[in-house]
Amino acid sequence: MMGQLPAQQNALFYEFCLEKHIPDEHLLRQIDQFLDFDQTRVHLDPFYSHTGRPSIDPELMIRMLLIGYCYGIRSERRICEEIRYNLAYRWFCRLGLEDEIPDHSTFSKNRHGRFREADLLRLVFDTVVQRCNDEGLIKGEGFATDASYIKADASRQRMVDGPVDWKPAPTQSRAVREYLDALDTDPSATRTQKKVSTTDPMAQWAGDKGPGQFYYSTNYLIDIEHNVIMDVEPTPAYRIAEVTSTQTMIDRVEENLGIKPKRLIADTAYGSAAMLDWVVEQKQIEPHIPVLDKSQGKPGMYGRSDFSWDNAADCYHCPAGKLLRSRSRHFKNPRSPVTKANTIIYRSSQHDCKTCELKSRCCPNTSHRKIARSIYESSRDVARDICETPEYLQSRKDRKKVEVLFAHLKRVMNFDRLRLRGITGAHDEFLLAATVQNLKKLAQQRFKPPDYRIGAPVLC
Ligand code: SF4
Repeated sequence: MMGQLPAQQNALFYEFCLEKHIPDEHLLRQIDQFLDFDQTRVHLDPFYSHTGRPSIDPELMIRMLLIGYCYGIRSERRICEEIRYNLAYRWFCRLGLEDEIPDHSTFSKNRHGRFREADLLRLVFDTVVQRCNDEGLIKGEGFATDASYIKADASRQRMVDGPVDWKPAPTQSRAVREYLDALDTDPSATRTQKKVSTTDPMAQWAGDKGPGQFYYSTNYLIDIEHNVIMDVEPTPAYRIAEVTSTQTMIDRVEENLGIKPKRLIADTAYGSAAMLDWVVEQKQIEPHIPVLDKSQGKPGMYGRSDFSWDNAADCYHCPAGKLLRSRSRHFKNPRSPVTKANTIIYRSSQHDCKTCELKSRCCPNTSHRKIARSIYESSRDVARDICETPEYLQSRKDRKKVEVLFAHLKRVMNFDRLRLRGITGAHDEFLLAATVQNLKKLAQQRFKPPDYRIGAPVLC
C-alpha cells in the first residue's frame, strides 16, 4: 500500500535537545573538542570597556568564522544566514534554537577594530598549534616550507602602469591607506611594481600563471610528521618576500614553541646563497634545499662544476689545470673584492687561455674565463653535499606535503580568491584557513567520542 504523508505536522509541544542531534562523526563536534577560548578571553579583556552594554561574545564570532572556513562559506552575510537554519552550526556556536544571530556588519567592525589591535586571529592560530603540540602531533625534526598564489580581490580593470604617485585623499580606500602607511615600515611595500592595482596596491601583478592577475602568497611552514601547519605568513606574490617570510616563521616558531627543526625542506626558489647561509650559519639547520645556481654551462660547454675549488690556495683550477684567481690587479687605493651581488670574481690568465686547446668549450667569445663565487659559497656547498645523500630523496617526497595542504585549501575549502583587501585582509584570511586545517588534522588524528556515562571523565 502506498503511504501518504499526514497533512498535520505541527505538534503542540516538542521535547528537543540540540546536543543529541549532533552525531559524533560530525566535523564540528570533532573540532569542538580541541577548541579552547579561555586564553582568548584573558587576552581580549583590556580591549573591552568595563562599563556599558555587553558586546557580542568574541568567542561566538570566532566560532562563526571557523564554520565559514570549514565549509567554504566565505561571505559573512551568508554565514549568518546558514547559522540561522543549520542545527549543527547553532550547536557549534553555543546558540539555542531561538537565540539571535549577530548581524554580519559586526564582523567588519570588530575585524578592523579590536581583533586587529589584539592580533586575535594569530592568538587563536597559536593556541591550536600549541594544542597540536600537546597532542603529540608535532615532532620538530623536519619542517617544509612553500608558498602558493591566491588571487587578490583586485580587478584587472583597476590596473595602472607603475610607479604611481599616491597623494593622500579623504576618499582613499582602507587598502590604499594601509599601503601608504606601510611605505615607511614594510620593505615589500617599497618594491618597484610595473603594474599597480589602484584598489589594493600591496597585491602583486603576476602573469606567468595564466592571464595576468593580482595575487598574494600564502606561505606555510609545516612539520612533516603529521603535516601540522606550524606558521603561516601573507606576502605579496614575489619570491624575495616569500623567502624572507620563511625566516620570520622559523624565528617565530622557535620563540613561541621553542622548536627548531633539524632540517628545512624547500624547493629551488629558497636556494639563494643568502638564504642558505642564514639556514646553515645562523640557525644551524640542515638545508634540504637545491642550490639556486645559474652558472651551469650550456650542453657541451664547461660549467662551474667543471672547475675545482682549492680552499687553501683561494683559487679555482680549470679543466686544463690552470689557476683562476681573484684580485690579480693591484690598485693604488685598495678595493674590496666583494661585488654588489656578494660575490668575488675569479679570473683566468689571458696568456693561459690564448693558447689553450679547450678554449672553444670554455670561453669562446672572451679573452679569459670568469667565475663569480658567492661569499656564502661554503653554505651552498653544505646544501650541495646534502643533495647527494639518500635522506635528501626522502626530503624531496616530504616537500610535496605542503602542496597537498595548498590543494586542500583551494579545492576543498574553496579558497582561491581573497575576500578582504590589503595585506591585513590576507593576514586574517590565511590565519583562519590555516587554523581550520590544523583543527581538521586534530579531529582526524586525535578525536575521542564523548563518554556519556554518568561519572565518566569529561574530555576537554
Ligand atoms: S680556456 Fe683558460 S680557463 Fe678555460 S680551460 Fe683553457 S686555460 Fe682554463
